[in-house]
Amino acid sequence: MSEFEKTVPSELRALMKENRAPHAVAIESPDKTALERCARLIAQWAVCSGESRPCGDCRACKKLMSGNHPDVYYAKLEGKRNAVKISEVRAICADAVYKPNDGDCKVYIIPEADKMEAAPQNALLKLIEEPPQPMMFIFLCENAAGLLQTIRSRCTVFKLDTDERNDGHIKELADNIARALCRGREAELMYACAALDDRQQALDVLKSLSETIRDAAFCGVTGRSSADSAVNGLAVRVKRRGLVSMQKSIAEALEYTERNVSLALVSAALSENLWNDKYL
Ligand SMILES: [Zn+2]
Repeated sequence: MSEFEKTVPSELRALMKENRAPHAVAIESPDKTALERCARLIAQWAVCSGESRPCGDCRACKKLMSGNHPDVYYAKLEGKRNAVKISEVRAICADAVYKPNDGDCKVYIIPEADKMEAAPQNALLKLIEEPPQPMMFIFLCENAAGLLQTIRSRCTVFKLDTDERNDGHIKELADNIARALCRGREAELMYACAALDDRQQALDVLKSLSETIRDAAFCGVTGRSSADSAVNGLAVRVKRRGLVSMQKSIAEALEYTERNVSLALVSAALSENLWNDKYL
């Protein structure tokens, strides 16, 4: 299953396949990292010029994945509420009149949309109703009921499906490894890696850790911070080449785990490799 299939809600993917994706969507989940990832994949789908979107291979996909696609706009969060303010909405409205730089669609991602005050939400209404050109709005929220009725009625709401309990536990085990790396405590890292004592769980944890590291690399490139502290910690403390090397170490651990190598050996090698990668 691709990351796109795993992350983007199936109802939305079905619409995308028929080229009937709504131009304004609200994505709902308590998991902010999952929301960010989902928004990025929807944006990638919107700007991709490949055959089967998102292809991951075309110029637009590559630009987006390296964090600098000119037609994808991440609204800035500000102030005590850590939400999008009216000044930022004005900036969006001003940007929206310009034609897309690359493809034929512009994408606006609005994080923490349910925390926005009424004024900035109202200021967005006209743009959503009468976009001057093809554009897509992605509202990210914990609860779409927190959006003004006027905005909500113009969006199609999708919930991210997550198996929360199990996902939470997997993420916690992966975060323990990330945190130990951030703190620079080798014994803690060995301990966190040694917790991978079940083969299926080890595979899931390694994949989750790989996603965290990929998100950290993305934050590093774009200068954005993530809602996920493990992602931010790695983005701040490990250089890009260290993160790239960590991905290789994880890929190797995944391969050995799949090939039935003893988990004790896999976790010992993983912890040693990650420790070295951190200082690259
Ligand atoms: Zn593409």
